[in-house]
Amino acid sequence: MNPTEKPPLCSRCGECCRKGGPALHREDLPLLRTPGGPDLADLVTLRAGEPALDQVRGRLEPLETEIVKLRGRDGAWTCLFFQEEGAACAIYAARPLECRVLSCQDTRDLERVYARDRLTRRDILPPGHPLLELIAEHEQRCPVSGFARLLESDAPEDRQGRAAMLGWDREVRLLVAEKSGMDPAILDFLFGRPLEQLAPALTAARRRT
Ligand code: SF4
Repeated sequence: MNPTEKPPLCSRCGECCRKGGPALHREDLPLLRTPGGPDLADLVTLRAGEPALDQVRGRLEPLETEIVKLRGRDGAWTCLFFQEEGAACAIYAARPLECRVLSCQDTRDLERVYARDRLTRRDILPPGHPLLELIAEHEQRCPVSGFARLLESDAPEDRQGRAAMLGWDREVRLLVAEKSGMDPAILDFLFGRPLEQLAPALTAARRRT
């Protein structure tokens, strides 16, 4: 931006917050340890292969690598921290990088940071965290792209493969919720959204291609 230009003003229409919470970047890591900032139960992992809205291109695209973002609320993508009254942000002082740089009138700053240094679960959980191994096993047994391929087929072995993945995906969540005593909301960060929940979006994405 030219230094003599005034930064574009935010009209606080709330449109960007309604489109979904931001993906997190390396610069956001300290916010996860800031009192009043988001915590792990406020996050959702979108795994490789999931269709996700590219905010810069404005279209749904399958993710090449996972991203971690602020979750939505009430079954929609509207950011968990968006307050309709006054179109306010409940964590304004600790809002993530994408929210700080976004201007609807000039998206160049967002475009510069958008695909850079995105955080993954491995960046967020400390090295050696006991759940990292389970997360890796879940990725191996229940990959989104593998599940999407099985959804296309009615062959008995593919139906079986699908049922096995769905079963493992369900079991691992139940096990962690039961044994760890953690807030169950954290499961969407640890393992992404349940495969069962992803199935309609994956089927629709395959039909579009
Ligand atoms: S963190 Fe705040 S500014 Fe960012 S999308 Fe959520 S409500 Fe909007």
